[in-house]
Amino acid sequence: MRPWLQGIKWGGFVADTEPTRERVRGCLVGLAVGDAYGAPLEFLHRSQILRQFGPSGPDDLATWGGLPGGSYTDDTQMSVATARGLLDWRAASGWAPGAAVDLGALAQAIWQRYLDWYRSGEWEGHAPGTACLKALSDGKPVADNKGCGGVMRVAPLGCAGLEGAAFEAGARAAALTHAHHTSDAASGFQALLVERLVGGDELRVAVAAARGVLAAWPGSGGALDAVDTAIALADVVSVDTYEALGRIGHVGVETPDGGGKGWVAEEAVGIGLFCALRFAGDFAAALRAAVVISGDSDSTASITGAILGASGGLAAIPIAWRDKVEGRDDLLRLADELAVPAGERKGPAGSALPPVGSH
Ligand SMILES: [Mg+2]
Repeated sequence: MRPWLQGIKWGGFVADTEPTRERVRGCLVGLAVGDAYGAPLEFLHRSQILRQFGPSGPDDLATWGGLPGGSYTDDTQMSVATARGLLDWRAASGWAPGAAVDLGALAQAIWQRYLDWYRSGEWEGHAPGTACLKALSDGKPVADNKGCGGVMRVAPLGCAGLEGAAFEAGARAAALTHAHHTSDAASGFQALLVERLVGGDELRVAVAAARGVLAAWPGSGGALDAVDTAIALADVVSVDTYEALGRIGHVGVETPDGGGKGWVAEEAVGIGLFCALRFAGDFAAALRAAVVISGDSDSTASITGAILGASGGLAAIPIAWRDKVEGRDDLLRLADELAVPAGERKGPAGSALPPVGSH
């Protein structure tokens, strides 16, 4: 048994006290839980959500589309494909932590896994993004499209020790289907943010680091605005959560009658980041904030869940939700394949896990 396995049984898995591995597990399970939590609300207007569930949203991972509660959507399916593509590339290239990353080869391996996903048809009935399907059908990215189908699936690129290459890896993975500099920038930010968190940075430190790279990225425009607005409003208690989401999501393709919508990349990452920052110690509250919007509730909550899972590890996620989410054990196995433990990383060693709330 590896030294970091301490014999605490959970759902057939032994709780992992190696901090990097625990955070990677938290990221993958967190993004799936967020996706499953938001899935029943994706196409509901805020007024419908309030009527059906009240201001706090659902209490549980609810059923949707005839599927059992805990079922996830295309966001997690494509995130899993990203992770598998990364593992394919790593196996084929023999890459080791600290070595240069061949970003073209990595993107090609991910593309192949996206094609496999598309051809499998597993997306049917799971609300897939139209740009993703079109790009995979046409064999090329959809021009001038900044839908959030790119940024929603790049968190695994921050889970495998790519360190400084994570930003560009995220941008390139998104660009496989969405040809738009704002999608590139938002996706690079999300991948690097996760990378910093998995590496042991405290949330605010990780956000500042990823924001710094985003600011220097050519054409970061709308993504930088959304990230900066999220950071600026997270601690302003006089601005309530929904008002803040409306300000972050105002750049959308619809009139902002319902506030933040998250259909496009910079809104999705800005909303996800805001919810993670404002409710950093309370995973469930962060997800609730992310889903009670007239928009892409599963993607915004999935992005929030990836961030807080990568920050606090599995322990940050409510037990009932992580036990219920579809494919939990497969996600844990995938996380363990992706993770590069702190002792094997070339950058600063991962620090101890931050304290988490009561979940
Ligand atoms: Mg979805």
